[in-house]
Amino acid sequence: MNLIIFGPPGAGKGTQSDFIVKKYNLFQVSTGKILREEIKNQTKIGQEISLLMSSGSLVEDKIVNNLIEDIVSDKKYENRFIFDGYPRNLDQANFLNDLLIKDNQKIDIVFKLSVNLETIKKRISERKTIEKRSDDNEEIAIKRYNTYEKSTEPVIEYYKKLNLLKVIDGERSISQINKEISDIIDLI
Ligand code: AMP
Repeated sequence: MNLIIFGPPGAGKGTQSDFIVKKYNLFQVSTGKILREEIKNQTKIGQEISLLMSSGSLVEDKIVNNLIEDIVSDKKYENRFIFDGYPRNLDQANFLNDLLIKDNQKIDIVFKLSVNLETIKKRISERKTIEKRSDDNEEIAIKRYNTYEKSTEPVIEYYKKLNLLKVIDGERSISQINKEISDIIDLI
């Protein structure tokens, strides 16, 4: 089983992915986390993307797709992926589609956590004090939200047309969302 979880910044994708990974023995692919590690480790990629990321812009497709290709082609994670933060635009979605087809894999369910902008602002300001991410201030969060609406909503539409989309109300408690997601996964 391979899953994707979508949602604007602060929607709770990371929290829900952690839960799904543990419960269903999946492997989380969070491009945001991977890219933050590159910056922390001061790699060549990290140096290239650091300014872009702290300004809330998307990193170049080529960089992200290369990272994804390495992970998806690793047989030990086959059919155990939960993609969190990827694909972010239609080119990435097509790239992922081609990669999975090559490996005889597919996406089984796509979750979208729906959260309104006021909740996002509140959650991001709470997270800022805990995680100290450079892109977690209100102005940048709004920019990331707008990028999500413009670039990522069309990807969600793409999966909706394939009948894979499940929209989850992300305004509720973590445990209520956990339960709804589990109930959907348990049906397949
Ligand atoms: P996230 O942790 O998913 O909120 O991502 C944090 C930041 O990492 C984003 O604002 C982008 O700068 C970068 N990023 C993460 N995933 C992608 C992606 N799939 N494509 C391009 N940039 C990404």
